[in-house]
Amino acid sequence: MSKSYYEILGINKDASAEAIKKAYRKQAMKYHPDRNQGDNTAEAKFKEAAEAYEVLSDLQKRQIYDAYGKEGLKNSGYSGPGNSEDIFSHINDMFGDIFGFGGGGRGRRRDPNAPVPGEDLRYDIRVSFMEAVHGVNKEVSITKKETCWTCEGTGARPGNKPQVCPSCQGRGQVIRSQGFFQVSTTCSRCNGAGQIITDPCADCHGAGLINRSKKVSVRIPAGVDTGSRMRLSGEGEGGRRGGPSGDLYVVIHVDEHEYFQRDGQTIFLQLPVTMVRAALGCEADVPTIHGTTKLKIPAGTQSGERFSLRNEGVPSLRGGGKGDMVVEVKVQTPVKLNKEQKELLRQFDELSKQHEEEGFFSRLFHGHLGKQKKQAEDQEKVANG
Ligand SMILES: [Zn+2]
Ligand SMILES: [Zn+2]
Repeated sequence: MSKSYYEILGINKDASAEAIKKAYRKQAMKYHPDRNQGDNTAEAKFKEAAEAYEVLSDLQKRQIYDAYGKEGLKNSGYSGPGNSEDIFSHINDMFGDIFGFGGGGRGRRRDPNAPVPGEDLRYDIRVSFMEAVHGVNKEVSITKKETCWTCEGTGARPGNKPQVCPSCQGRGQVIRSQGFFQVSTTCSRCNGAGQIITDPCADCHGAGLINRSKKVSVRIPAGVDTGSRMRLSGEGEGGRRGGPSGDLYVVIHVDEHEYFQRDGQTIFLQLPVTMVRAALGCEADVPTIHGTTKLKIPAGTQSGERFSLRNEGVPSLRGGGKGDMVVEVKVQTPVKLNKEQKELLRQFDELSKQHEEEGFFSRLFHGHLGKQKKQAEDQEKVANG
């Protein structure tokens, strides 16, 4: 049989709300994942304690649990405990309760033992065009402040509690009179912390935090673009006095590609095609971000004409399909022709003249005159008819 929630927290069935909080705080500190990295047993215990606390700290849930056990909770519509994402949030709630966080007005007396959440961190990372398109795993090295576990982030030598600052009575601010005004300034004795540490922790010298270098692996999903942000929960700076860690935000910057361009999920490519092949039509090999594909270029294709290739674009970040690829044909005028090639082109030119006279230039130069002539003929017809 699995342990009861009371056994998990090591308390009696008639434990007071205060005793439950205290017992949970102890367990949470002991098995905190930051403190026990890679230790699955500790992680399981941490979650177990959170689950127990979630139920026992809620009077209604506790009553149901006492009477009918875990099954009873399920049957009464409680979605079931153990939602690990909530763990940190209710650590906050709990410490908030205990230490009078939340709802406190300005100038409220700050408890020197109150937890302080860790700062969020930002890390900018460069990835290649192809890495952004296909996704990549990166390991980043960050230096950050982590909770000092020697003093559990209090800054005080173990067994020694920080003292409420006597100058500001823990407010962190002192009020001075200047003429008619009262001005509130940061307490110089505690630098606004509201507490003073008389016997600092030897490891962190009273800061409660220690600088550490840490390698964090970041899974960058396929489809990210410059400006994409990823949040790594709990990888920011450590909290003090039991406060949760901040988050790490990884901000993506994508390098340009020599040939491909990108707009969201659409890939653009300029494809050079010889004059002759554009005229005669061909099947071209087109490099794509996924490999190569064939593209049928119809006879008579002009420079600048665009062709769409479905699903040859960038995968969607939110799942679902890939974008398209747009291939723009760039017809290449031949250079460095040899004698024979020149001769053939001259012959081609001779043969083309006939067409051209009925073509663009003839329309341009003679079209206006021709139109006048036709109008004159039509008028003559009307006159005669
Ligand atoms: Zn310390
Ligand atoms: Zn002070």
